[in-house]
Amino acid sequence: MHEIQNIVIVGGGTAGWLTAGVIAAKHQGRRPHGFTVTLVESPNVPTIGVGEGTWPTLRTTLKRMGVSETEFFRHCSASFKQGARFNRWTTGAVDDGYYHPLMLPEQFGQVNLAPHWLAEGGDDSFCDTVTPQGRLCDAGRGPKTMTTPEYDGQANYAYHLDAGKFSHFLQRHCCEALGVRHVLADVNEVHLDEGGDIARLDTAQGITIAGDLFVDCTGFAALLIGKAMGVPFRSCSDVLFCDTALAIQVPYDLPDDPIASHTISTAQSAGWIWDIGLPTRRGVGHVFSSSHISVDEAEGELRAYIGPAARDLSVRKLSIRAGHRETFWVRNCVAVGLAAGFLEPLEASAIVLIELSAKMIAEQMPPRREVMDVVARRFNETTTYRWGRIIDFLKLHYALTKRTDTDFWRDNVRPESIPDRLRELMELWLYQSPWLHEEFDRAEEVFPSASYQYVLYGMGARTAIMPGAIEADDALARRARYENQVQTQRLVGSLPGHRDLIDRIVRHGLQPI
Ligand SMILES: Cc1cc2nc3c(=O)[nH]c(=O)nc-3n(C[C@H](O)[C@H](O)[C@H](O)COP(=O)(O)OP(=O)(O)OC[C@H]3O[C@@H](n4cnc5c(N)ncnc54)[C@H](O)[C@@H]3O)c2cc1C
Repeated sequence: MHEIQNIVIVGGGTAGWLTAGVIAAKHQGRRPHGFTVTLVESPNVPTIGVGEGTWPTLRTTLKRMGVSETEFFRHCSASFKQGARFNRWTTGAVDDGYYHPLMLPEQFGQVNLAPHWLAEGGDDSFCDTVTPQGRLCDAGRGPKTMTTPEYDGQANYAYHLDAGKFSHFLQRHCCEALGVRHVLADVNEVHLDEGGDIARLDTAQGITIAGDLFVDCTGFAALLIGKAMGVPFRSCSDVLFCDTALAIQVPYDLPDDPIASHTISTAQSAGWIWDIGLPTRRGVGHVFSSSHISVDEAEGELRAYIGPAARDLSVRKLSIRAGHRETFWVRNCVAVGLAAGFLEPLEASAIVLIELSAKMIAEQMPPRREVMDVVARRFNETTTYRWGRIIDFLKLHYALTKRTDTDFWRDNVRPESIPDRLRELMELWLYQSPWLHEEFDRAEEVFPSASYQYVLYGMGARTAIMPGAIEADDALARRARYENQVQTQRLVGSLPGHRDLIDRIVRHGLQPI
């Protein structure tokens, strides 16, 4: 019997520290019995340092790790994120834009409001018809008040955060509160045993680290899963064309300038620009396809977007490769974060995948090596499914465009660039609105059917209404829409301004749970 007692995580970026925290918190009770979590991180290789948009799952993840939400705001330059606004994705016109909010449509479990909205012509904003959240973002409101307890909200929310500060914050919490061992060393050799498992790691600093399960969080280096275990990378650059990012940090003109409580994503000639408001600065970046536009042209578009404030600011260039490992857990090595794969950050899907992977590893932690292959198989099946669904969802934003102004947009609607499953679903959605159907049947689906509705109808797609569909639940739909109007008025009228809320959280603290 080979008991699994020592977990070794290599890499101290967002993936490494979140995975360490989730596993250590879940297995606290086993510590006195010899269970250890060790994180080894290079003092020389920096973390990627970007990754500022998250998904609401992070609230539960931090809460389970025992993190105080107030301390998180104090140390990570965090702000609230209530969704994303996509500008110029459909027609490219100046007034072309829609929200993908984080709140589900009103009464989503009871009634599908989409056919009712479509029956009335579908001319009003779908988002505003079914949820208050677009209006909250327009009005610059936060999603809660000072008396709302930590991690609760009047409106659903995620966070924007400073990636570098977040890793340091998690490191402190993991080491001080959760007993994670931290080793600063460069792994330079991975030793396998005769069966092909990783037995130990050698480091340039002369420290040797043995373990039972190794988590590869080494970022794009993929030191364990790629280099040592030889798991191939599966590219999806034939579906998602962007391969380069330019990132820039933009100071506010005035210290009390408003902070957007949503990510702003503005389509460009060969990609799109993200714009994320933190209390201290904005994080802005251009993600684009270098086959369609040169780096200089892309930088020009980025600087034009920012305006005069960009004049003296330096830009950081990152090469990105869309795709993921063919398998994620092999023998006693599992990859999480950029080591597992990367997709353009259009819907902030990377950190949520890290959380879901870490949670599954922690919950399914095999007690003995003998059952690890069973857990690995299940992990691979679920994780492969998730990557596939995220690729579909990101591609949907491109596949629905009506833009024909550049090769980038024309190439993006070529049928051969659209995955088969997505093409089928798009056909289905011509006469059946995505709702609680079996294509969204997995527990912890990364993007629920509501997300597909927001993007589909936000981008002008329309679903035919089946005979009898409206009459069946008309009364329920009317009530839900009325309730949405009441909620919208109440929340826009009562919730505080976003910057004001963050300032007060940092100064006075939220009610602890
Ligand atoms: C342009 C861009 C924008 C993004 N935006 C978002 C977003 O909005 N939302 C989102 O969810 N995600 C986003 N991401 C993805 C997100 O940044 C990452 O998923 C996240 O930061 C996790 O990175 P990581 O920890 O896997 O890797 P890294 O941060 O690269 O960390 C790698 C770690 O491995 C260590 N390491 C490497 N080699 C060795 C070695 N030999 N020995 C020991 N240690 C080693 C390094 O020291 C480092 O600690 C974005 C990514 C990019 C490129």
